[in-house]
Amino acid sequence: TLVYLNGEFLPYDQASLSIDDRGTLFSDGVYEVLEYFAGRPFAMQQHVDRLKYSLAGICIDPPSVVDELPAISDELIRRNDMPDARVYWQVTRGPAPRNHLPPSDPTPTVLVTTTPTQPLSSNPPARQWKAITHEDLRWKRCCYKTLMLLPNTLAKQQAKRDGCQEAILHQGVAVTEGGSTNVFVVRDGELWTHPANEAILRGITRDLVIDYARAMDLTVHETAVTLDELRQADEVFVTGTTTHVTAITHIDGHPIQLGEVGPVTASLHDAYEQQLMQACCT
Ligand code: PLP
Repeated sequence: TLVYLNGEFLPYDQASLSIDDRGTLFSDGVYEVLEYFAGRPFAMQQHVDRLKYSLAGICIDPPSVVDELPAISDELIRRNDMPDARVYWQVTRGPAPRNHLPPSDPTPTVLVTTTPTQPLSSNPPARQWKAITHEDLRWKRCCYKTLMLLPNTLAKQQAKRDGCQEAILHQGVAVTEGGSTNVFVVRDGELWTHPANEAILRGITRDLVIDYARAMDLTVHETAVTLDELRQADEVFVTGTTTHVTAITHIDGHPIQLGEVGPVTASLHDAYEQQLMQACCT
């Protein structure tokens, strides 16, 4: 398998980063994950735009290669013969002798990797996950997709220990988002999700699902719900690039209603899968 690193396509085993890379030393970098199906990317432009937004957010001048990431990714998918894949982009501030203060003219490190995924199938059922609730221990700029994922990975490890697949994070009683997803609550046929402010990552899937919901004449409130409202919801689901629309059937060991996939979750799941199919496989 080939990877792209700083201008070169290299075999996985031959690609290496400096031990002084600020991505490793300080989590000083940002990333994106996007999906390819049948050799075609989904929501490519949104991922490029968000990568630039994240870079600006942590004061890294976007290297010009950022605009070539779509072409580089297409090439990697083709050369790796991996039509159905997750593509990972990582841009760090680059290598520099260890010092909190970066040099004034760093050279960013740009990495692209691919991992195979399942091809799309027609009419797949919505996945069902169980979740825990977990305090949101992150910093105050979660709107940038930075490499600083320790609070997320710790929360997801706790979820796994409790037999669950996701941790729903909360600040005080306000639900923010999942460890690697955005959270939606359905109540009386209306949707609730956290506003796209500094407290959450503005998910590309989140925004698409909001569009599909509004196109179905569902009311969407971009307002945070409380933990009590979460637990008493009619339906809860999470969204993400690799998660798609996944039902949350249990929270902290208690079922949401009957502990099944609800009708609103099922329709939005179907809308998202149809969109993927249409964008990549027609
Ligand atoms: N929130 C967090 C913290 C994430 O890490 C992710 C994706 O990895 C998301 C939300 C979902 O974002 P997207 O739909 O753009 O994949």
